Amino acid sequence: MNMNELIKEYLRIKQYRSFSLKAVIFDMDGVLYDSMPAHDKSWRETMDELNLQHIPYEFYLQEGRIGKSTIDAVFQRNLNRSSTEEEEQKIYARKSELFQQYNSGATMPGAKEVLNYVKEKGLTPILVTGSGQPSLLNKLDTHFPGIFTPATMVTAFDVVHGKPHPEPFLMGLQKGGNLAPNQAIVIENAPLGIEAAVGAGIFTIAVNTGPLPDSVLRDAGASLVYDSMTTLFTELPGILSLAETLHF
Ligand code: MG
Repeated sequence: MNMNELIKEYLRIKQYRSFSLKAVIFDMDGVLYDSMPAHDKSWRETMDELNLQHIPYEFYLQEGRIGKSTIDAVFQRNLNRSSTEEEEQKIYARKSELFQQYNSGATMPGAKEVLNYVKEKGLTPILVTGSGQPSLLNKLDTHFPGIFTPATMVTAFDVVHGKPHPEPFLMGLQKGGNLAPNQAIVIENAPLGIEAAVGAGIFTIAVNTGPLPDSVLRDAGASLVYDSMTTLFTELPGILSLAETLHF
């Protein structure tokens, strides 16, 4: 299917006559920041220190979950139980400590351009992340000045369930001004994030900035998959103008 058909397909399935775009919802890690290699490395090392087995690409596949949920998946496999609150806090603290050592803080090439373009078009950029890392969250306004405010951000501190539950994206729609799903699009890089966004009924574009095959992102429900934020930047004008003009 071409882009035209994919957008029509979304509208048909969701029974909307058209888009009425007001916002673009962005995930953070792997979309705005090139932080996933550091997350992956610090999760692996934290689990290795505790002699807890993890599976290949586990932390890319689990990306988007809140910390407790990621820890419990490893605990269940290794110990047949969930983590206690004390264990969870200790493990998450260690992982965060390693993450701060490894994370370069580099933004994703193309991210700034995409955010500025969205803003220029009069759309509200909204952040929906499972992250609770102050080292990134507190720097958003330095790296992307004037783009997000606390009122337009959903983080690990706001949600109960977290991705892949649709809750964070439903909250993102709310923060955008009680928007309906056809008033926003989502930019995500992780399969569980895509699943959450699609579960919230939102048209979802994937940028595959990690090691997983595109098919994993398509299977999670992404309508479009691009290889980078730079490619998305070149495609976005076309997507937005189709979203403005297409009616079912
Ligand atoms: Mg991500």
